[in-house]
Amino acid sequence: MWICPYCNTAVPNPVNRKCPNGHGLADPIVLGFTVEQTASKSFIKAFLICLAAAVLVILSRSFLPEKTVGHVLGMALVFFIAVGVVALLRALKWKRQGGPVTRLAPRALGTGLGCLVAGGGLLALGFGLDMIR
Ligand SMILES: [Zn+2]
Repeated sequence: MWICPYCNTAVPNPVNRKCPNGHGLADPIVLGFTVEQTASKSFIKAFLICLAAAVLVILSRSFLPEKTVGHVLGMALVFFIAVGVVALLRALKWKRQGGPVTRLAPRALGTGLGCLVAGGGLLALGFGLDMIR
């Protein structure tokens, strides 16, 4: 089910991915559209997106200086952690708010945890392997 967090209503038939009041049904904080999704599915999706982004940065070491790659990787991982924290706060807010938007809370929760685990885990790994400095 699509849900508009601004109107706090379910949108059964979005037109052009917009609610009837014209709000776009995409939210960068949940890394996609504000569609109802289980926490575990959101977790895996967020984890894979963060992982793929980190891999892309690591692959860029073939044409960028290693020091730059380490720096960019560190920043990207801190960014994932920040997104994760914001998503978790969003999950709390949606849960407390009541109404249809609470159905988006598991999605924000899963996305937040996925980003945190991927960002935090890779950050620890990066420091362990001396890739981030
Ligand atoms: Zn709306």
